[in-house]
Amino acid sequence: MDAIVVGAGLAGLVATCELVAAGRRVLLLEQEPAPWLGGQAFWSFGGLFLVDSPAQRRLGVRDSLERATADWMRTAGFDRDDDVWPRLWAEAYLHFAAGEKRSWLRQHGIGFFPIVGWAERGGYEKTGPGNSVPRFHVTWGTGPAVVAPFERRVRQAVDEGRVVLKFRHRAESLTSTGGVITGVRGSILKDQPVERGRPSSRVAVGQFEYRGQAIVLTTGGIGGNHELVRQNWPSRLGPAPQEMLSGVPAHVDGSGLTLGQAAGGSVINPDRMWHYVEGIENWSPIWPRHGIRILPGPSSMWFDALGNRLPAPNFPGYDTLATLQHLGTTGFDYSWFVLTQEIIKREFALSGSEQNPDLTNKSIAMLLQRIVSGSGPRPVEAFKQRGADFVVDADLDQLVKKMNALTAEARLDPVALRAQIAARDAEILDPLSRDPQVHGIYAGRRYLGDRLIRIARPHKLLDPNAGPLIGVRLHILTRKTLGGLQTDLSSRVLRADGSPLPGLYAAGEVAGFGGGGMHGYRSLEGSFLGGCLFSGRIAGRAAAAAVI
Ligand SMILES: Cc1cc2nc3c(=O)[nH]c(=O)nc-3n(C[C@H](O)[C@H](O)[C@H](O)COP(=O)(O)OP(=O)(O)OC[C@H]3O[C@@H](n4cnc5c(N)ncnc54)[C@H](O)[C@@H]3O)c2cc1C
Repeated sequence: MDAIVVGAGLAGLVATCELVAAGRRVLLLEQEPAPWLGGQAFWSFGGLFLVDSPAQRRLGVRDSLERATADWMRTAGFDRDDDVWPRLWAEAYLHFAAGEKRSWLRQHGIGFFPIVGWAERGGYEKTGPGNSVPRFHVTWGTGPAVVAPFERRVRQAVDEGRVVLKFRHRAESLTSTGGVITGVRGSILKDQPVERGRPSSRVAVGQFEYRGQAIVLTTGGIGGNHELVRQNWPSRLGPAPQEMLSGVPAHVDGSGLTLGQAAGGSVINPDRMWHYVEGIENWSPIWPRHGIRILPGPSSMWFDALGNRLPAPNFPGYDTLATLQHLGTTGFDYSWFVLTQEIIKREFALSGSEQNPDLTNKSIAMLLQRIVSGSGPRPVEAFKQRGADFVVDADLDQLVKKMNALTAEARLDPVALRAQIAARDAEILDPLSRDPQVHGIYAGRRYLGDRLIRIARPHKLLDPNAGPLIGVRLHILTRKTLGGLQTDLSSRVLRADGSPLPGLYAAGEVAGFGGGGMHGYRSLEGSFLGGCLFSGRIAGRAAAAAVI
């Protein structure tokens, strides 16, 4: 074979497509069973970071490469010697997101929902992190529609004999000849039918070894391996949480990072991770400890485990990392949203393709139901009725009683909670309020996209007409690995001394989406799938050029 690609997630599929397009023959190894292609991207919401798109312009959003670069650099906070390649990758990616990305995706048949979302809005003055404008473009068809064109191309190449696809092949080490990486060794895993996303057997029934002129690692991050997440947890975020939910399937276990490092590749920024603070237990789990992330609008009140309102700007959807850091100081791994029916139906979106059947199935009828229905999206209503973290009551004292019953100790004082809610309610009808969350709600509603579908009309939480009241217990949810194998701008894996490790390339999450961490400390969102597309493309092209 000319090249071996390890891992058939989005980055691996894109790299394979590029190798095939350059006329190379590829062996694609994947540890999971036969129907699975696309890895995490299949489950993803399909949100993509684009800069200065037609959709933004139609909604009156003024964006530019300069503006996005300023936002990205403030958000990333690059501050280490190791950040040279990550920063160069960030710059290259920003040019892609402001330039060719959209037309390239359209050539692949990928389109977008017309309303651009505003993720990570920051809530600081101009010097703080976050998106200063909306940039989150949801793919029409969500994650599966991002995967589909690349999967189709790979399957076609399999039929043409240009790609050999081997499932249940788990890479365990890389082999080298004269200092050049020339092959992959590993175990053939027991074959058994397993539904996509569920953990599969790790029992080995044989061994394999293959050789290739270029080896591309696209094995994903570590979010499904909580032990590794805790080991790498940085002290700046407080103690590692005892309890976490998994926002990714079990195959996101970090094995590719280990084998890349054992072969001589340098792993940088392992302490930079992107975990969410609005995780809820999936009432119908697919993978172990399966949690779903709420993509929240800004109106819910957010309290810590003891019932103290989180300080500004830790409001829903503002600054994931700052909120995670704040929760680390509270001594508890969970927090609470308190909201109304009016807020949940407008402001709760659940991340994941299976949680958005309207967008995933491209159903206009279901989409309209989401917008006009009194109960909000069906998957959200299902969580409200069946989810272990939801309690509902028209009366606040009763609600607090139910919230307390969900935890081992009754930590919430109904009187103190009522006082904080009443103080916020006293401000909510004043657009000039100095309550920073209220101020943010009015400011957000000046953006047409938010006013149309994302931010509820300002109202008092204790207004019975907006009720019932809802309490939601929120867990920390593991998701993305921001650090990874250090790579240069050709996706060549680098050694600790900065020299390329000949024969080895890496792309996607295992490479920190490029360079070993192009996001720095934090993300503007929608940049992970994009990072896989971009780095997979570069790795595939560079590996193809290296084959004689
Ligand atoms: C629910 C959910 C929602 C998301 N929403 C978004 C979003 O809206 N926008 C966004 O930008 N990002 C989103 N993401 C993140 C994004 O989907 C991932 O970061 C991205 O898909 C990672 O792709 P990858 O190809 O690098 O790795 P993966 O998708 O993890 O693929 C790696 C593949 O390699 C295989 N593999 C691993 N180790 C080995 C081994 N040793 N041998 C052989 N095979 C191996 C795995 O089985 C897997 O198939 C979301 C993720 C999830 C789970």
